[in-house]
Amino acid sequence: MPAKSVNDIVALCKRRGFIFTGSEIYGGLGGAYDYGPYGVELMKNIKNAWWNAMIYSRNDIEGLDAALISNRLMWKYSGHEGSFSDPLVECKKCGARMRQDKMKDPTKCDNCGSTDLTDPRAYQLMMGLSIGATADGAINAYLRPETATTTYVNFKNVLDACPHKLPFGIAQIGKAFRNEISPRGFVFRMREFEQAEMQYFINPADDAKYFEEWKKTRMAWWVNV
Ligand SMILES: [Zn+2]
Repeated sequence: MPAKSVNDIVALCKRRGFIFTGSEIYGGLGGAYDYGPYGVELMKNIKNAWWNAMIYSRNDIEGLDAALISNRLMWKYSGHEGSFSDPLVECKKCGARMRQDKMKDPTKCDNCGSTDLTDPRAYQLMMGLSIGATADGAINAYLRPETATTTYVNFKNVLDACPHKLPFGIAQIGKAFRNEISPRGFVFRMREFEQAEMQYFINPADDAKYFEEWKKTRMAWWVNV
């Protein structure tokens, strides 16, 4: 019998030991979930199947496991610090905060219907950290908001250690963090989440060919897994 709502799935996942609300006994924390005894095994199976297909069954892709915390400058010069943001609007009547591009009607509050809204402001999606003995608590590091950039900055390291000619790829599975304004949809929009991602480096002239090839390869994997 199909579940009637996401809440039914949430309850089922908890009852069966797959997924629990993070920090649950202290009131929970939006967008953070704990994987229970069966959830962690399911997650491991999926990761292993993905890693087998990407790394062990091919000769053209190398693996990588980059740090989750990284120098602020990496995310500054990748352009994320300046532009990795959502347009945040606040309702002056009820205080609700909403992503303007996701509102049912951008002129009205989703919660109370008031039209008394603030102008949108850029809301930084990266989680900033102040690590080490900084006196002022200024942000000097970020939790990575994606795996991709941490793959790109290791391009030369990987190539020096494992020489390849184009085309070749670098794959990672790991956590990424985004300070979503309103995490929702259970484990479909989380603030802390797992990514499995492969960057494939090609001659730009061959982009259409490899794009088609990878679409077929990945779809076949998803159907078979
Ligand atoms: Zn409102």
